[in-house]
Amino acid sequence: MTDTITRFAPSPTGHLHIGGARTALFCAAYAHGRSGRFALRIEDTDQKRSSEAAAAGILDDLAWLGICWDDGPEANGCGGDDRKVGPYYQSQRREIYDRYFTKLIEMGLAYPAFDTPEELAEMRKAAEAQKKTFIYRQQADYDHAQAMELAKTEGHVLRFKMPAEPVVVNDEILGEVTFPYEELDDLVIRKRDGFPTYHFAVVVDDETMGVTHVVRGQEHLNNTPRHVALIKALGFDVPKFAHLPLIFNPDGSKMSKRDKDKAVRAAVKAAGDVTASDAGVDERDFAKWQKDKSVQLPQDKLVPLAAKLGVELPEIDVEDFRRSGYLPEAIVNYIALLGWNPGERDDEGNEIERFDRAYLDSKFAFDRVGKKASKFDRDKLRAFNFDLIKSMDPGDFVEAWRTWCERYDAALLETLDKDAMLQLAPAVQQRAVTLGEARGPIAFLFTETDTIEYDEKAVKKHVLKGEPAGLDVLRDFAPKLAAIEPFAPEVIEETISSHCQTNELNMGKLAQPIRVAMTGAAVSPPLGITLSSLGKDTVVARVDRFLKFMDA
Ligand code: GLU
Repeated sequence: MTDTITRFAPSPTGHLHIGGARTALFCAAYAHGRSGRFALRIEDTDQKRSSEAAAAGILDDLAWLGICWDDGPEANGCGGDDRKVGPYYQSQRREIYDRYFTKLIEMGLAYPAFDTPEELAEMRKAAEAQKKTFIYRQQADYDHAQAMELAKTEGHVLRFKMPAEPVVVNDEILGEVTFPYEELDDLVIRKRDGFPTYHFAVVVDDETMGVTHVVRGQEHLNNTPRHVALIKALGFDVPKFAHLPLIFNPDGSKMSKRDKDKAVRAAVKAAGDVTASDAGVDERDFAKWQKDKSVQLPQDKLVPLAAKLGVELPEIDVEDFRRSGYLPEAIVNYIALLGWNPGERDDEGNEIERFDRAYLDSKFAFDRVGKKASKFDRDKLRAFNFDLIKSMDPGDFVEAWRTWCERYDAALLETLDKDAMLQLAPAVQQRAVTLGEARGPIAFLFTETDTIEYDEKAVKKHVLKGEPAGLDVLRDFAPKLAAIEPFAPEVIEETISSHCQTNELNMGKLAQPIRVAMTGAAVSPPLGITLSSLGKDTVVARVDRFLKFMDA
């Protein structure tokens, strides 16, 4: 029996899209659940749009998600070439493609074509005038020998002579799909620059890498008959195909990288006075981007422009979710449910939705993958993330939090050391849905003392009401604060509690006014850690300011 071999084949033209991550996850799960192998190949035949940095970013995002590949570029502890089927960058496989170009030409199934872009545009226009889709075919009077001679000196592409028969694709998810010959043109398989097109490279690579299952998004379904025709012409084995459902936004539109541009474009329009130089791009590019919905600004221009305009960019790429502070385990668990579910119930009869990778590997098969697009439910992902954060051991949480800060919030690490974060962790874990929101419950640490605003309700309830009033209790205790030494959580708590005991007060009588003075409101992590992380000078200054405010 052939081992199961799947592959994920991203084009390194940008960040890894969340849908790409789901494809990779399903590829890995399908192979690993069958003791097979999962390969990763970088499809960089489009030299203009590809970059090494984008490839590295994709590999990093995959590894971060814990979606490790067995065969492929060695990076982040994943990959390798045990089966000796590399290299895994298409740009390094040109000799392999050349062999198969020669083979197809010799069989009379590929031919050079010399049409200029202008001529092709003319043909397209003529077809459109007749309300037909333009389908390129070899001219009836095409002279092969003459063309081969001309090809030695003239620029040309190589086209595949599409066999005149329908192509049937047997999809593991969608069933049998038939594509009539009339819809399949003689596609370009080698570009003018000598590089193979995606269609050709993918077919040769899947065969030479031993791929048994091609798992990819439904957006590729229309490419598949072209691939099948090529596979058959080359005498390769037809792999199994499984096309995964698309991922939609809640409003039913396709979840696309362009959504980010859309959000910023709308804000630019609303503002009315944003210039190309505000955006950091040249006039023409900016005008084009404003007019044409299919044009995208580079991320390094779009992100700062969004920030300038106060636009919150929709999360689309893995990097976006990573920056927001989702945990990889929560993302992986959530995206596994996009178009698939295990169809099992727990002991209480509830559908099983929370699971780990081992469970996914053991359950994943195509029979439970849907045909229709699935909607991306941000609230559900948030719930997964929050539950995971809450359930984490504080040590593990701080580990994840610090790693996140190293990438996205180095300033926080300058204010808080590991011990302080550990002390704050339980309070943060109860309230932060994502690591990006972890600053929320401890925002008081980062506000300037003289900008604190005191919540009226909290003041009324905890400071003014009662006998004695919180204000008097605080005023009475204030001098003791400065004397606490060392200014450490236990010593602070002990001082507060003994003051309350001596004065026959319950703890809240003193604790709550202190909280209001420190944070403006009556909620904060445990007082000892709240005060020690602010530091004695700040605590004294905040109490002073609050007492003055109350006296005024
Ligand atoms: N390189 C293609 C893409 O990034 C994937 C092709 C495939 O999976 O066959 O969309």
